Amino acid sequence: MDSLQHKINDKCGIFGIYSDDQDVARWTYFGLFSLQHRGQQSAGISVTDGKTIRTYKENGLVSQVFNENVLSGLHGTSAIAHTRYSAKDANVERACQPIIGETQFGQIAMGYNGDIINESQLYAELEEKGIVLDRYNNTDLFLSLIKLSGADNIVDAISFAMSKIVGGYSCVMLTKDSVIAFKDPVGIRPLCMGTLGKYYCFSSESCAFHTIGAQLVREVMPGEVMIADKDGLHTYQYSLTEKQALCIFEYVYIARPDTTMAGRSIHEARRRMGHQLQAEHPIDGCDVVFGIPDTGTPAAIGLAEASGVRYGEGVIKNRYIFRTFIQPTQEMRDYGVKMKLLPIVETIKGKKICMVEDSIVRGTTIRQVVKLFKEAGAAEVHVRIASPPYTYPCMYGIDTATQDDLVGAHKTVEEIRDYINADSLGYLSLEGLIKAVGIDEHGEKLCHACLSGQYPIAIPKEIMETKLSKKYFDKIYNK
Ligand code: SF4
Repeated sequence: MDSLQHKINDKCGIFGIYSDDQDVARWTYFGLFSLQHRGQQSAGISVTDGKTIRTYKENGLVSQVFNENVLSGLHGTSAIAHTRYSAKDANVERACQPIIGETQFGQIAMGYNGDIINESQLYAELEEKGIVLDRYNNTDLFLSLIKLSGADNIVDAISFAMSKIVGGYSCVMLTKDSVIAFKDPVGIRPLCMGTLGKYYCFSSESCAFHTIGAQLVREVMPGEVMIADKDGLHTYQYSLTEKQALCIFEYVYIARPDTTMAGRSIHEARRRMGHQLQAEHPIDGCDVVFGIPDTGTPAAIGLAEASGVRYGEGVIKNRYIFRTFIQPTQEMRDYGVKMKLLPIVETIKGKKICMVEDSIVRGTTIRQVVKLFKEAGAAEVHVRIASPPYTYPCMYGIDTATQDDLVGAHKTVEEIRDYINADSLGYLSLEGLIKAVGIDEHGEKLCHACLSGQYPIAIPKEIMETKLSKKYFDKIYNK
């Protein structure tokens, strides 16, 4: 995951745990550590001892932010935690979460993953009421709306905030005596619930449960509000929409392979993507197939199984490259790829190789990767992509390039093949990807807007105008 810098970046991982008699800071730390792949810019934990909420958060990786000393100061029986990615406010301390707000229910700590489409309108409405927010994150918006609701119970207050907010989000909240988890009404961003003995926990991904010995119970449903407190687990449904739209890119790239999401193993879904790739773009005649680590690997294993082509280790990832690595100049980008990916010459030299990648965003990195293998002596480099061309920008919390920068939006597959200098290029079809994920036959329970342009939550025209290239905007609005 995240081996290359061209990547799609999810904005956050969230975690929460409720107990009434255990010191939970260490469980929370290990849960958060398992979600590190979802964001590497900051990490934070809030704990409550039933009276006071304490928070520690800083820019940095989970293992850099927390140590024994910090954790031993975080006494509490319930907690939430957050790890963050953000492109725009990379090192702003104020953007670190959880965020603390004073409300009619006392202090609330909140961690949030997603994007609010109508944030400008909501900020303006709040400013008219004299509430000025610093706009570093959307968590403040939620907390302000909760306060503004005037509701005297937390479920009504959250429902009021959800009625105002348009977007894709998953959230965890900590009050002094409860942990709350909820999802947007179509369930774009993931969030699941588990148990650790008699305690309840929540996480962006089930991989965090394995680490602490908890059991995955189920997904938090779209529009569902779950509250864990001394009386047990309570659930409320904000809206009973039939529509569901879980992000399909969780299966392609974002989620960790040992996660199970909506009942589907991420690793197995990726392996099936490889099977589908062979059905759609066979690699018969290649000598060896391998994935670009880590996310390309399960699809490459599937492709090898389906094709009979030998699976080999063609490249390894340098484990000691961290996200803070800075490419000094544009001209030195080649060094970036060479430092991160180490080709195994013995596997490659003189061979017709097939490399499998999860997706292509700008195309600049994969072009350097193909060059790397050709320089290592590959006779032919065939490229297979475990998803369709990434064509439209995500509006629901995944940070990608603007549409102008998306190579899939402006070049045909043959033009991309030529640009990256591959001997052949095959993308998995949307139908093939939906089949590999296996949630439903036609992908009606999945968001695939970045691949299809079908946005499950309507995006206002004025926002579309700022996000889409003129060609696509005109195609939709000026037919
Ligand atoms: S647009 Fe793409 S990346 Fe964004 S939520 Fe939908 S499927 Fe995921």
